[in-house]
Amino acid sequence: MDRNRSDLFDSWESYRKTCRELSHAMASRTGAQVRLAKKTSNLFRTRREAAAKNLDVRRLHRVIEIDPESRIAEVEGMTTFEDFADATLLKGLRPPVVPELKTITVGGAVSGLGIEASSFRHGLAHEMVEEMDILCGDGTIRICRPDNENADLFHAIPNSYGSLGYILRLRVKLLPASPFVKLTHQRFFDRISFLSAIEAACAQSPHTPDFVEGVAFTPDDFVLTMARLSHERGPVNDYKGLQIYYQSLRHRTEDLLTMRDFFWRWDPDWFWCSRSFGMQNPLLRRLLGHWMLRSSSYWKIQSLYRKWKVAERGYAIRKALHLPIELFEPVIQDVEIPIEKSLEFLEFYFREIDIRPCWICPMRPLEAARNWTLYAMEPGALYLNFGFWGSVRTSSDKADGHFNRRIERIVQELGGRKSLYSTSFFPEDEFWRIYNGDAYHKLKLKFDPQGAFRNLYQKTVLGH
Ligand SMILES: Cc1cc2nc3c(=O)[nH]c(=O)nc-3n(C[C@H](O)[C@H](O)[C@H](O)COP(=O)(O)OP(=O)(O)OC[C@H]3O[C@@H](n4cnc5c(N)ncnc54)[C@H](O)[C@@H]3O)c2cc1C
Repeated sequence: MDRNRSDLFDSWESYRKTCRELSHAMASRTGAQVRLAKKTSNLFRTRREAAAKNLDVRRLHRVIEIDPESRIAEVEGMTTFEDFADATLLKGLRPPVVPELKTITVGGAVSGLGIEASSFRHGLAHEMVEEMDILCGDGTIRICRPDNENADLFHAIPNSYGSLGYILRLRVKLLPASPFVKLTHQRFFDRISFLSAIEAACAQSPHTPDFVEGVAFTPDDFVLTMARLSHERGPVNDYKGLQIYYQSLRHRTEDLLTMRDFFWRWDPDWFWCSRSFGMQNPLLRRLLGHWMLRSSSYWKIQSLYRKWKVAERGYAIRKALHLPIELFEPVIQDVEIPIEKSLEFLEFYFREIDIRPCWICPMRPLEAARNWTLYAMEPGALYLNFGFWGSVRTSSDKADGHFNRRIERIVQELGGRKSLYSTSFFPEDEFWRIYNGDAYHKLKLKFDPQGAFRNLYQKTVLGH
């Protein structure tokens, strides 16, 4: 790792100065709603342009302190997980949950339910947090803990997507790191044996792996990956160049990566989405790999594509030229389904959606999960997260969002939960029933009475 300490670390003094400035900017705001101005994003819904004041939080992008004794980090809200993980690795430690994409920030993952292959042990990203400084709509910065006077705000931040306040600082529990991670990949040719194996891998025992995840390549071809921290040296692979991680799963049974390369195994190919950009071609990898093999590069191109309405323009041209038109509905979703309903979900998935591959990541909410306000999951129960990012062929007789809406309904029927980082189509009354509208509206009135932030429905469904 070749990182400069000053890239990664900030001082308490500088953090407090930035907080004073942000607090002042927020308190002196006149009327307009605010939105975050930051360098990166992993949000996948298009925001409608609306008058809003940009709050420049870009300076809050570093780690303030790491105490190796107590294994606690103080980290600023806009720090990317790439920087956060690098800072902790310098001290021989690691965050318990490191989402798969380098530019996901700690604040973004905590307000947006970040997940990872360790989530069956450590829960979602916010479950590693002990304390947060939250900037509220009136400019007040509140220190929030599960046991202080702001416990209600602390518990409402996960799944709030910046609609109740912005996380400026987090106190995060850390775990010991190791130099290497040893992976084993096991292939299954039917879903029932794959689901039984993933459930068994997550059972609590002294032999439980540190990380578990799976990939469905086709309806009858699954790979289960189990990974363990390792101190044993050996030839290591990396997937930052010509080799492509997801392709390795079907032809390797074992692998060894440095801990850093393990964290970012999915990043250079944005899981497998790099193929839409031609970046799985060896020649392009050699020529452009240095710039392109990062999830943030694909995200930037994708967002320009949306901004310039490339798909809509292509459609208009084909229509004008009377060329055949194929219609596709973008379906970019992560959903969590109880393990016992996962077979039913997979049957629906391959029958109606069938985007290949599909990422399958187990997660188990910790005991404290019953206190989180804006999403309901059963503490201790095992869920599978299914992540699928692509499009489904549709037809002009189907409503806008037909397939996304099908997914929303099935997830509800199966007792699951849908992430809100992408497009959603819920009618408003159904949305508030699912995401605890009664409690949300009370908290919104208490912490953001003047409506400085758009509400959760406006942000995540209406795209404001
Ligand atoms: C293709 C794809 C794959 C993904 N894969 C994964 C994955 O493997 N694992 C995973 O965990 N997640 C994944 N995500 C989801 C991602 O974690 C969430 O979208 C997350 O919220 C992004 O965080 P960000 O830091 O990039 O924030 P942004 O994208 O900038 O913002 C996301 C939302 O969070 C709010 N927000 C951001 N920072 C703060 C803050 N400091 N305080 C309060 N609110 C804030 C913003 O207002 C916004 O509403 C994926 C997303 C995509 C598009």
